[in-house]
Amino acid sequence: MTRNDDMAAQPSILDFNVTKEFLQNAGGEEASEVVRICLKNNGKCLDQDIEEEMKTKKITEIRSILNRLHYRGIACYNKTKNKNSGWYTYTWEIKQRRIVELILEQQAEMLQKLEQKARFDGSHEIFICKKACADTAFEIAAQYEFRCPECGEMMNPVDGKKRQKEIQNQIKEITEELSQLQKIV
Ligand SMILES: [Zn+2]
Repeated sequence: MTRNDDMAAQPSILDFNVTKEFLQNAGGEEASEVVRICLKNNGKCLDQDIEEEMKTKKITEIRSILNRLHYRGIACYNKTKNKNSGWYTYTWEIKQRRIVELILEQQAEMLQKLEQKARFDGSHEIFICKKACADTAFEIAAQYEFRCPECGEMMNPVDGKKRQKEIQNQIKEITEELSQLQKIV
């Protein structure tokens, strides 16, 4: 490792597109920004802190993002009552490990699907239309006289080797990304 590497910023789970996409689905468009602000503060912050930093967002919107993340076990809070004002203060905490766990679960399903696809492709001759409605095995495609049952376009044989390679590359990419992600938490 060079000196530069030593001084480089700590890798963050938010460097990965898979994390950003996941958070967007779990908490909404701005969820990864909310998570980023919290993580900067050792994973803990007040909703007002997030509001201050995001400026463009109303506190109610920020709270609703946090609530959605809370529902998935990604964010949790501690409630304290101010003795003078009687108001409650919420300190939110982001669970990085939980985020990674959920991503791993989701991607494991994805990998399973890809492996199934690879197996199916490997043992069938696949036909598909230009719109790519659905992979269709030769026997089925023949029954439809090679017209796509969904859109009616002609179906043509798929280059099996090329497809296998694409699927294997996808599997490799996901697996590598996940192992990097796991190293962070
Ligand atoms: Zn079609």
